[in-house]
Amino acid sequence: MRITDIRVFVTCPTGQNYVVTKVLTDEGVYGVGEGTLNGNEIVVARCLEHIKELLIGQDPRNSEDLWWLIYRSGYWRQGPIFRSAQSAIDFALWDIKGKIANLPVYQLLGGASRKGVKVYRHAGGRDPKEVEDSVRAYLEQGAKVVRCQIGGYGGSGVLAHEPPQREGLPSTVIFEPAKYLVETPKLFEHLRNALGMEVELCHDVHEQLTPTEAAWLAKQLEPYRLFFLEDPIQPEDLEGLRLIRQHATTHLALGELITEREQCLALFRERLIDYIRIAPLHVGGITEARKIMTLAEPFSVKSAFHGAGDLGPIAQAAAIHLQMVIPNFGVQEWSDFRSREVLCELFPTPCELRDGYAYPNDAPGLGIDFNEELALKFPYKPGYLPIFRRQDGTMHRY
Ligand code: MG
Repeated sequence: MRITDIRVFVTCPTGQNYVVTKVLTDEGVYGVGEGTLNGNEIVVARCLEHIKELLIGQDPRNSEDLWWLIYRSGYWRQGPIFRSAQSAIDFALWDIKGKIANLPVYQLLGGASRKGVKVYRHAGGRDPKEVEDSVRAYLEQGAKVVRCQIGGYGGSGVLAHEPPQREGLPSTVIFEPAKYLVETPKLFEHLRNALGMEVELCHDVHEQLTPTEAAWLAKQLEPYRLFFLEDPIQPEDLEGLRLIRQHATTHLALGELITEREQCLALFRERLIDYIRIAPLHVGGITEARKIMTLAEPFSVKSAFHGAGDLGPIAQAAAIHLQMVIPNFGVQEWSDFRSREVLCELFPTPCELRDGYAYPNDAPGLGIDFNEELALKFPYKPGYLPIFRRQDGTMHRY
């Protein structure tokens, strides 16, 4: 069996660009993959065109060796753009492997270790009461874990949103930490009084704090027993994480910016986190995410894979297949693609959610397809992520 072609698409059906690959073979079977990297989609697509030349004529069944071929093809360490492109290929090769074996990918990885993949939903509101109502609505739908935020990232610390200078350029968020630090414990005090102590609640700081601020917040949140506090600081700051750990027993989740296994080692070895937030899409696919989760296992670190709307339905399916199997599964962040008709037509069909658990489709491979013709109706739209600044104009995050 040989790879004959790799098609690369960037499509924007819902305001979010998705990078999609189709790996074609001489035996008619093909695999689908995804390399979406929010704000950098065109760059990943160009990288895939570059990788394609390496892979034409290769046997697609040798996914491990092809992973290393792509990795070693650049002498330099490769970062998020290369790693996302590599993931797109890896997903497609597992999809092909499953189709050949006539088995869903999770069966090839070891079979089901649980009935379904527990997910967390995103509750929000302008004040604690609105957040409470939003949490209750998700609980009624069967959610087992709910993330609670006032407003967007930065919560009540966001003082203003400034529109971009022209369409497509980044907007600006004006943030000051004082209000955020004071209001966030009050939010959880309200939620615990209203909902009791047993409901699983988490919160995403999105790296808006200094280590000392984050340690203070994690300590204030201790009485409210969070499922986890996510990304309190930037993931590179190991000294900062040690400081937080020394001062609070609030569970920590971190890692959606991680692209290399080496970045995980100190986090695991020193038990600086409880949940690792990698996305298989940004670390090199199923092949590498599985190895990272094996490295995490002896240190009691569980998965909480990144799964916001900036990853598409193919990446979600790949994450669900892997987390059906790994022993140290924690929770999966959930984006509801099935409720968007256009996404069900473009990616027939996204994974299903029932009573708070996600399920992989049981068709062979990843169980999801891609409608090329439809994708052409939704061309790429340039866009950048927002920039955070302080009130005096200083760029936020140091
Ligand atoms: Mg996050």
